[in-house]
Parts: sequence; structure tokens; C-alpha cells
Amino acid sequence: MGKMAQLCLLLLLCLSRPISCFAFYTFWTAVVDISYTTSNNQTVDKNCECGVFGDDSPLEKASGIITLPEGDPKGCGPDPVYNRNASSPPWIALVKRGNCTFSEKINAAKRQGAAGVLVYNLDGSGNETSEMDHPDAPDIVAVMIGNFLGMELVKLVKNGTEVQMLINVGRHHGPWIDSHLLNLLAITLFLVVVATISFSVVYGRRLVELSKYRRAERRLKDEAKKAIKRLQVRTLRQEDEETTNDSNMCAVCIESYRPGEVVTVLTCDHIFHKTCIEPWLLEKRTCPMCKCDILKALGVEEEPEDNIPTNSPPDVTVVTVTGEEPLYEVPLTDPGSFDPQRHQHLYDNRAFEGESEPSRG
Ligand SMILES: [Zn+2]
Ligand SMILES: [Zn+2]
Repeated sequence: MGKMAQLCLLLLLCLSRPISCFAFYTFWTAVVDISYTTSNNQTVDKNCECGVFGDDSPLEKASGIITLPEGDPKGCGPDPVYNRNASSPPWIALVKRGNCTFSEKINAAKRQGAAGVLVYNLDGSGNETSEMDHPDAPDIVAVMIGNFLGMELVKLVKNGTEVQMLINVGRHHGPWIDSHLLNLLAITLFLVVVATISFSVVYGRRLVELSKYRRAERRLKDEAKKAIKRLQVRTLRQEDEETTNDSNMCAVCIESYRPGEVVTVLTCDHIFHKTCIEPWLLEKRTCPMCKCDILKALGVEEEPEDNIPTNSPPDVTVVTVTGEEPLYEVPLTDPGSFDPQRHQHLYDNRAFEGESEPSRG
């Protein structure tokens, strides 16, 4: 969930408008060529690569006589602001930045037939220029120049000098990554890294816990299997008490015992069907009736396999006792140590009484 949220945030940041506006910026410079004749008949010709094309301006040459707006130097407004028209010799509007949008002042000049628009920067900005955004006035050359150059031109024009202007396309600059974007990228990267790290820490710890739990479960199951192998198993006979008395039933399946069924005797002497009790013991490892822990009773728990003593405790020894038919199986590690006396004691429960009686008598 946390990771999803981070991804969504990243996507949102990538798609958000501020980034697409400020992300990468490029611009074209303009070479501005000025020529005029002074009052003492000297011809001045200057040029500098000191203009910047507006973002929406065509990258083209433009030339003409510099013309100032009538009245407001900022050249805003829907009414004609220049004393010019399309039939005049080519002219270029020189307006000051401010009061209205770039599109508005560019369009005001275009309406009266200007060949291009020069916008000079605000007072106090020296010779700095910035990029103009004028999406509503795309099809006329528009260039920004510095405040100093603009003021110099205004002074010349106001003194009655006819200033000829030629705008040429300069060079391409950029792209640069905006600092806003850099900050956003850094923050986003940081968030993603933090999210990834916390996700791996939490998830990794859970995985370790899970694998520990599974290992412990597996070990207990293995021990239960070992313990089950050591439990006494016998086949019920017609004359056994379990089959004759209906009140004896397997507590797992709640069924009475029938001759021929194989039962398992737990360490607590409780009897169950072999097929009923084994799956139960694999899961629970305790007697369903008295909760006796078979792993503890058999000493299996926490005991590595090769540490199991060769002389196992009597109640877990296994032998197969054979008569006319196999009666039951009893675990025994050393058949030579088989002792009928001990055996009798071992299986001294009601189920064996009938059988042990004759040998005693
Ligand atoms: Zn059963
Ligand atoms: Zn029991």
C-alpha cells in the first residue's frame, strides 16, 4: 500500500503542469543590428547578440524602422497605439515590458502591421533579458532586449532619429533543467528510496520470521513422525475388551472399535484408531483426551537424532510379537534384550489382560 502510494505520487509529480512548464528550458538568441545617421551626418552601425526570441515567436529575420507607441510606452490596449499602418515602410514596434501580457502588446503592434516587436525589460534590470511566453501571438517575430539598450533606442527615436533595425536569428541555448524540477526530482528520489528501504526491511523481517516459523513447524512435525513410529500399535481381536464393550470408542472419529482394526496406544495408555490418531499427532502432538504431550513423554523433543540413546526407555522399545497371527508390533532397538517380564509390565493394560492371564496361571 505504502509503495503504491509512492508510485502514485511520483506519477502525479511527473504529470503535473508545473514540471512540464518549468522542466527543461531552451531559448534562441537574436542578433540585433542598429543603424542610424547622427545630426552631424555620421552613420552609426552597431550590433550585438543581445536579444532573446520569445517562446512563441517564429525564428525569422525581421527589419524595419523602430517605432514607439503613442502615449503609453508599454503598448497595451485594444485601440491603435502606433501612428503607423500596413502601407507604411516596414517598421518594428519598441515597447516596454509590463502592464499587460506579452501577447497583448505583440498583437497590438501586429494589428497595425508591424514587421516585428521588440520588448525591452523593466527598469533596474540592466541588460538582463528573459524568455517571453506569448501563446496568443505566435506568428510575428518578437524579441526581448535589455532595459539599457531599450532606453537608448527610445531616446534616439524621441530625438527624431530614424533608427533602422535588423533582427537576425542567433544561437540555440539549453536545454537546462529548472531548479524546481531538480528539487522535485531529489525529493521524489528520496521518497522512493525511503519507501523501498522500509518496504524491504519490513517485508524482509516478515520473510525471516515466516521461514523461522516454517522451520520450527517442520522440525516439530519430524519429531512427531519419530514419536509416532515409537508408539505401540496392535490389531484388535474379537475377545479384546475394546471390541466387546460398546462404550469404548475412538475419541477422534467417535466410532466403536471392531475386531481387525489397528489401534495406536499412546504413552498415556489412551487408545485410538491408528489412521485417526496419526494425522492428529502430526498436527497437535498431544493426546486428544488427556492432552499428554507425546514428544515430552517419549523424550523426542529438542533431541538431535544421533543423541537418542541406543537403550531406549522400555515404553518405546519395538518388537513384533508373533503368535498364530501377528498380534501387535512393539518397537525394540535390541531384540536380544527382550524380556518377557518387562514386556508384560510394559503392556500391562486392560487390552492385554486376557492374553497374559494363561501364562501366569
Ligand atoms: Zn477413530
Ligand atoms: Zn491420553
